[in-house]
Amino acid sequence: MPVYEYVCDECENHYEMMQALSVNPAETVCPKCNATRSRRIMSAFASKVVGTHKTGFQEMKAYDMLGDRMDRLAKLPPISGARAAPDAGNSLPPGAVPSDSA
Ligand SMILES: [Zn+2]
Repeated sequence: MPVYEYVCDECENHYEMMQALSVNPAETVCPKCNATRSRRIMSAFASKVVGTHKTGFQEMKAYDMLGDRMDRLAKLPPISGARAAPDAGNSLPPGAVPSDSA
């Protein structure tokens, strides 16, 4: 049986309930106040969005910041690539390039 998340409209209790698919969400009894005014939440992500608009706004802001960070990372030169080229040249022992120095 699937586990559903519910929010009680009466006491705002957030709870999980294992139920058959056929169970009517409107008949689900809140374990805290025994009211039958619970709303089913489809997923953990949805449960964060349900409620105040602030939460959604903050999530959007977080996505913005993430995008910002990704932009900055994208503008940086590739760390491994930039280092690999000069290091490879400098780390060559003098004896490895006899044709040039001689
Ligand atoms: Zn309740």
